[in-house]
Amino acid sequence: MRTGFIAATVAAWMGIVAGSVLSAEPIVDGVVLGVHGGFGPNREEIKPEEEKQFRAVFEQALRAGRDAMSKPDGTSLDGVEAAIRVMEDSPLFNAGRGAVFTRDGKNEMDASIMEGKSLRAGSVAGVTIIKNPISAARVVMERTPHVLFVGRGAELVATREGLDIVDPSYFWTERRWKQLQDRLLEEQKKSGKTSEADSQRKLRRAEWGTVGAVARDKNGNLAAGTSTGGTSFKMSGRVGDSPIIGAGTYADNEGGAVSATGHGEYFIRYAVAHDIVVRAKYRGTALPQAADEVIVGRLKPAGGEGGVIVLSPKGQFSSSSNTDGMYRACISTDGKIRVVLDRE
Ligand code: ASP
Repeated sequence: MRTGFIAATVAAWMGIVAGSVLSAEPIVDGVVLGVHGGFGPNREEIKPEEEKQFRAVFEQALRAGRDAMSKPDGTSLDGVEAAIRVMEDSPLFNAGRGAVFTRDGKNEMDASIMEGKSLRAGSVAGVTIIKNPISAARVVMERTPHVLFVGRGAELVATREGLDIVDPSYFWTERRWKQLQDRLLEEQKKSGKTSEADSQRKLRRAEWGTVGAVARDKNGNLAAGTSTGGTSFKMSGRVGDSPIIGAGTYADNEGGAVSATGHGEYFIRYAVAHDIVVRAKYRGTALPQAADEVIVGRLKPAGGEGGVIVLSPKGQFSSSSNTDGMYRACISTDGKIRVVLDRE
């Protein structure tokens, strides 16, 4: 039985190698915190000024996260929350301030956070007035007996717990509004129904900028979190993978921490974050390899575009993506920061 299992595992992995679908992303050792910013503009398209801004926000997020973790009682959860808050406050990413619009012209945000030691988790979906949805996810985890709150209920919890509440207009940005107008115009020109393949093609990278973080603290405890405005032009009420524990976010000290970005419907169906972690946990597959198996080996053939960042229980940071260049960055125990925008 055991031999059969190993043979099947090796065969599956060999199949991936033979099909040369390995993403061959570098692995960075000794990482305390890693972040992603979804899929930003193509390397060829990004202007030097924009590039500088992305790098600056990543560095700020990593430093904020590391500082939060280096306090005497600082934890990986503190690191994840602090880093994501910085990215939520920046209009550059599709999360918080820079969230994309629904087709009705609203900003509906989703976020989640999970602790690898206890498997506690919290998330919010479809929120419109919470300045930092990641903090609301944490409040759900720590101050309610539940895991997931939606819409008004989530907003009431956040208000009651003293989080920053803003007018929905806080999330209006010129760039995202223009993206919506362009899309509306395109849709008007088109007749007939939009098929899934069509709508997927339309998930253009300029609109992908979901943010996420994975962290490992001094006690070796892992955490993961993800925050997003969802997919641009989504129907009102649509919820993606980011607030779904096991799809867009997962952390287990015995397997690893994962945060995802991409076509959420696929990430939900394939339970991507959980699948990656349990391959490492139960099968002993190295986490970067497990990520490739799922993202490149399973998701890509199915047509689900996207990627993940992963952090192993030993602090190895890596990413896997089945489409061009996820924006990502990490900080190691020695304070060294690495930022990778697209294919560097
Ligand atoms: N995964 C997100 C969602 O489907 C979108 C993204 O990552 O850009 O809501």
